[in-house]
Amino acid sequence: MTSVEHCGAILTIDLDAIAANYRLLRGRLAGAACAAVVKADAYGLGMEHVAPALSRAGCETFFVAHIDEGIQLRRLLPDAGIHVFNGLHAGCEPVFAEHRLVPVLNSLGDIEAWARFCGRAGASPVPPADIHLDTGMTRLGLPPEEVDVLAGEPDRLGPIDVAYVLSHLACADEPGHELNRRQVDAFRKARGALAPRPASLANSSGIFLGPDYHFDLARPGAALYGVAPVPGEPNPMAQVVRLQGKILQVRDVDTPQTVGYGATHRIARRGRMATVAVGYADGYLRSSSNSGGANFGDIRVPVVGRVSMDLITLDVSDLPHRMARPGDLVDLIGPHNPLDRLAADAGTIGYEILTSLGSRYHRVYKGGGA
Ligand SMILES: *Cc1c(COP(=O)(O)O)cnc(C)c1O
Repeated sequence: MTSVEHCGAILTIDLDAIAANYRLLRGRLAGAACAAVVKADAYGLGMEHVAPALSRAGCETFFVAHIDEGIQLRRLLPDAGIHVFNGLHAGCEPVFAEHRLVPVLNSLGDIEAWARFCGRAGASPVPPADIHLDTGMTRLGLPPEEVDVLAGEPDRLGPIDVAYVLSHLACADEPGHELNRRQVDAFRKARGALAPRPASLANSSGIFLGPDYHFDLARPGAALYGVAPVPGEPNPMAQVVRLQGKILQVRDVDTPQTVGYGATHRIARRGRMATVAVGYADGYLRSSSNSGGANFGDIRVPVVGRVSMDLITLDVSDLPHRMARPGDLVDLIGPHNPLDRLAADAGTIGYEILTSLGSRYHRVYKGGGA
């Protein structure tokens, strides 16, 4: 990590805001427990800081995507429940047992392999497993025809200790989408056909679809990190991330100059341009070219020209001279320029902005109760 003097930008991650978001989400669940999804290095924010902060906020169950993420998390949280979405890979069963990771079983083949492993384990302890039913995502999980087979032949589960039956919503961020209702109905039906077991369906947005979607355990990720769970409505989540870019140079410009690669921005009048030390190599997406914005306090200035690998250019013509000088910091994500706005300007979602945040930033962690 670079020092604050040498860095091109400072990324501040507010662990107290993550803890507050966890408590807010948990408070919306009547009865259900609340897990936390910390895959992809806690959505780019640093699992090693984020997971212990969530644990201190009372979270006991975590989900990751990959086995290796689970192994990393186990070192941080010796007692937590750790579930691995992507499930088994051939021959990896002993790794799950060694690190006490809960595999999410995504097919009848996975179920067969895990049941065989449990059978062979004898007296040595084997973790429980989750059963993932695909109710409309068509990605991972038992497809409907495999759910039918399992419902007719429940002995296929053999000695498996099932922790949760789970499924995942495709359109939870569109409350009016008819697929939500169809998925929850399919989930209830499939669950009813298996022996009664704890169930989990809702991601962040799913929590806001209401109690019908809560079941026994919710699995939020994005909302913990400040992404708005219901797009288009006021965001109830605390902002977690601030990204402050450093100005390297400020220059006077006039027509007919152009800015950046491809000369895509033409200077129309006398003004000033500020060059900031952040680019697409840092996860400031190239699709923000000529569409993004940055903030000096509550004053917004546009990104002009193309985003290049290490630099962006801001039109600061309308600012007083004292406000944009070399060495000054400008909010690329901040109180007046939230994550979701940056994402919308880049034509993407907050999830992609977070998980793209670069390794060249100077990172500062605030709070966390450590
Ligand atoms: C990533 C993921 C989640 C968390 O989703 P968010 O939208 O970030 O809350 C929950 N469940 C599954 C299966 C996932 O892959």
